[in-house]
Amino acid sequence: MDASTPSQGPSAGDAAPGAAPAAAEAREAVFEARGLCKIYRVGDVEVRALDDVDLDLYRGEFLVLLGPSGSGKSTLLNILGGLDVPTRGTVRFLDHDLSGGDEAALTRFRREHVGFVFQFYNLIPSLTARENVALVTEIAAHPMDPADALRLVGLEERIDHFPAQLSGGEQQRVAIARAIAKQPDVLLCDEPTGALDFETGKRVLDVLARTNRELGTTTAVITHNAAIAGMADRVVRMRSGRIAEIVRNARRLSSDELSW
Ligand code: ADP
Repeated sequence: MDASTPSQGPSAGDAAPGAAPAAAEAREAVFEARGLCKIYRVGDVEVRALDDVDLDLYRGEFLVLLGPSGSGKSTLLNILGGLDVPTRGTVRFLDHDLSGGDEAALTRFRREHVGFVFQFYNLIPSLTARENVALVTEIAAHPMDPADALRLVGLEERIDHFPAQLSGGEQQRVAIARAIAKQPDVLLCDEPTGALDFETGKRVLDVLARTNRELGTTTAVITHNAAIAGMADRVVRMRSGRIAEIVRNARRLSSDELSW
């Protein structure tokens, strides 16, 4: 962390790097990951994508995951989101066991609790912004009105536009509206600003921070961009499949205060 983001918190040397620092003890851990390992075998080569990771995520927090390419960030996010399972170790979301390998239970967990945002927006080109969001709300238990979700991300004027009629940043905001419209408990974002320029990226980050604040959605964001770390409650730095450091920011910066 640089001097503009004063911080404190457990470091890699602590017994349980994911455990709560004192200030957060009152918050409920919604995710509990313990001893997570993910090993890929490609021919004779074994890749330890995750190597003994312990991590708690607290209800309503905004977490940023930093680390070089290949350090295990996406693997960790995918396991938290029930898109993948660990080779060893346990991960729970409240009373859901996400490491048991029950495919139907993982599908239910994703549908009921998780919104995903990826680097590429994966919108359906033949549907308008509203219709892209409605695809998700039609099968959700407690959805928002698609128009309200699009208003939350500042796209009330673009509701009937098709993806090709929207800029990259606007398309990403439709993707965020789609992810939050089912009112998920958790929003998991893998490089959401990776394909965007500086100003557009900031706008998208601002939407994520506002959603986190206004809806209380527990949010984890993967980025290559260390400048984004200032927006988080906690910053997890990964290196070679391990958590190298967890830093708690004393104050969350707004997207306007970031520069890169
Ligand atoms: P990051 O998100 O930090 O870039 P990843 O979690 O995508 O890192 O990858 C961690 C490591 O696991 C990398 O070395 C990557 O090559 C490897 N890896 C990821 N997915 C697979 C896979 N399906 N098969 C083999 N190796 C993989």
